[in-house]
Amino acid sequence: MTAGRTVPARPSAAIGQYVLKVHSRCDLSCDHCYVYEHADQTWRGRPREMTAETLDVAAARIAEHARAQGLPVVHVVLHGGEPLLLGPVRMRRILSGLRTAIDPSVPLDVRLQTNGVRLDAAFCDLFVEYDVKVGVSLDGDRVANDRHRRFANGASSHDPVRRALALLRSPKYRACYAGILCTVDVANDPEAVYAALLAEEPPRIDLLLPHHTWDHPPPRPGGVPTPYAEWLGRIYRRWVDDGRPVSIRLFEALLPGGTTAGTEAVGLGPADLLVVETDGAWEQADSLKVAYDGAAGTNLNVFDHTVDEAARHPGVAVRQTGLAGLSAICRSCPVVARCGGGLYAHRYRTGAGFDNPSVYCADLRKLISIMDEHPPGPVLASPDTQWMLDDLARGHGGPESIEFLVNSQLAIGRALLAAVREVSTPGPGWDLLVRLDAAAPEAVRTVLTHPFLRPRMTRLLQRSAGPPAPRSPEPDPFAAIAAAIAVRAGIAADVQLPVVGGEVFLPTLGAFRLPFTGIEAVVLTVRSGGFRLLADSEAYDVSLDEPGSWPAGWRPTRRSGLPIHGLIIEDLDPARDCYGQPVRERLAEQPAAALARTVTEAWRLVERDVPHHAQGMSRGMRAIVPLDTSPTAALRSATARDAFGAVAAGPVAVPEALAVLLVHEWQHSKLGAVLDLYDLVEPGSPVRLPVGWRPDPRPAEAVLQGAYAHLAVAEVWHARVVAEGPADPMAATHADRFRDWTGRALDALAASGSLTEAGERFVATMGRGLAELVRG
Ligand code: SF4
Repeated sequence: MTAGRTVPARPSAAIGQYVLKVHSRCDLSCDHCYVYEHADQTWRGRPREMTAETLDVAAARIAEHARAQGLPVVHVVLHGGEPLLLGPVRMRRILSGLRTAIDPSVPLDVRLQTNGVRLDAAFCDLFVEYDVKVGVSLDGDRVANDRHRRFANGASSHDPVRRALALLRSPKYRACYAGILCTVDVANDPEAVYAALLAEEPPRIDLLLPHHTWDHPPPRPGGVPTPYAEWLGRIYRRWVDDGRPVSIRLFEALLPGGTTAGTEAVGLGPADLLVVETDGAWEQADSLKVAYDGAAGTNLNVFDHTVDEAARHPGVAVRQTGLAGLSAICRSCPVVARCGGGLYAHRYRTGAGFDNPSVYCADLRKLISIMDEHPPGPVLASPDTQWMLDDLARGHGGPESIEFLVNSQLAIGRALLAAVREVSTPGPGWDLLVRLDAAAPEAVRTVLTHPFLRPRMTRLLQRSAGPPAPRSPEPDPFAAIAAAIAVRAGIAADVQLPVVGGEVFLPTLGAFRLPFTGIEAVVLTVRSGGFRLLADSEAYDVSLDEPGSWPAGWRPTRRSGLPIHGLIIEDLDPARDCYGQPVRERLAEQPAAALARTVTEAWRLVERDVPHHAQGMSRGMRAIVPLDTSPTAALRSATARDAFGAVAAGPVAVPEALAVLLVHEWQHSKLGAVLDLYDLVEPGSPVRLPVGWRPDPRPAEAVLQGAYAHLAVAEVWHARVVAEGPADPMAATHADRFRDWTGRALDALAASGSLTEAGERFVATMGRGLAELVRG
């Protein structure tokens, strides 16, 4: 049996996603299930459950690989069968085993995909405790869902699944709600399916084409050539017309420049995924089971084989190769960058293996053309995204809300990159960036969500708009961004980098100061674990993890000693001067280490005093920028609307003060990101309101910003009253003052007539948060 053309793969691809089959049986009997109802019947010979021993070995393998590859995060999905059949006790053992083995090496993102039938408060409590995101399968309204998703006796699963979704929607468990997975059936009414899914208020919807191959093509009722495109197109138009009220991954991935992270269904990104079966076998993606018996198998297992060995399996390796791994027809297809040949399993045909376009090819092309005819406008506030605004208005905002903000900032960054490209002289940096976007999504995300990408791009656009240069004066503004991504991902590339001010800056990595002047460009070559710079025939090798070997002139981004994964002290990025205040030049080693220690101590206090805020900060805060103010001057701090996730601060030696400052500024950062998306204050409102924290009346938006920050600061001081007691006699005074300022500002805003409808609700919800704080 052929698995398609042989394409050379990199020797050891990084695998960042794992599906663990923790229970191999199911309590539903869905007739479209690819595990039990298709060609592959290997489940019959496997144990029902994954044992704790197998789990521990698999987790150790994953952690070992993540360490060696320097992965920024590892994603693990608990799957089945039905994983909840394990019961809460054995589920706890699985979760604690994963967290114990992997968390110390790399941040672990745990998800669970369930049919929802057994989801109850006991499970949800466990998922909150272990920070597990839960996806539930639901095919739409009752008619749509019960067409396939039934118990073995034919009974409906609709009511128990909706009960599970109601539980996940509740405030206590909302943070665990990952979304809904819906399998398409063109016999269902797409509008009814869309409405039913939206009614469950999911953070995300995954629309899945049913698994078929060229051997067993999907049904096309009535001879309609592209029924799946027509069906999805109707939902797409409704979604766009509604202002995209929820994330629908398939559409977001197929939009021009869309992100394909987290989906294998479309796009050219590498499928960096392995499955561990209940018996410890390494397997490929489950969807392959639709092709033929044993199609997902590798003959490797966690006991005898490392992740690297599994990643070198030809079936896994071929899927790391992007465009090169596709059929000739796909490679010459005008929409291949968006479609990516469709889901790998859907390309299968006996004899030709996977060297074909998708069996949904015509539908995918048609759907893309429907989308192009009906491009989306801006995302609007709507009842269906209200959960996020409500969540943030209560004060902190759970992980899903923070992820929403991070993703929206990423989308803004991408749009700015595209705008800069329009005014730039074409250079190889852009082409490399496009290539890396498909090949290295995690590294792309890390670099493009760096807080100072946006100020840098905005500045280039401003310069291009003003006389005398009609176009961006910076040669190849994408080269350094692309180079940083390629280095992070370890993807071979040679990049010509402009030298600016005698220095080459690589965002998120560091800067190299040349020992001589008069050079306009250097060439960076990616090497294992780092890169080489060639400048005027001199070579400088930088191995990122070997400080002892660094050449003079290399100044790495400061990340050591900081308490949050991905947080840096940013004292290099030229675009960090966006605060309207002077920023410090590169810190010397000693003050940098002292700042890292103070941040770490402050962070412990944030975690102790306001753990919900800490949870959000750990996901969105990326940089601390030292301001250049005198140590004896009043404490200064700042955020910039353009630099989400960065906090600027003057010298702070006292962790207690820095903790308050971080919480305060993080609130501004979040609200700024909200205001990028939604008007909470009527645009152009002339209203000025008195506030407690300043002598002069302030514009309504500034009052809202101040109130939002002070609500969180009041929370900090309330917590300190409890934690410190008489040891901090001023805590109660501060708590009263910030609470009072916040309350009066909210009253003034509510009465000002300056708020939009969304703003009125936001302020009212903040008021309820404040009232809860008062009640304790
Ligand atoms: S639309 Fe068809 S030919 Fe084009 S990439 Fe997708 S599957 Fe391949």
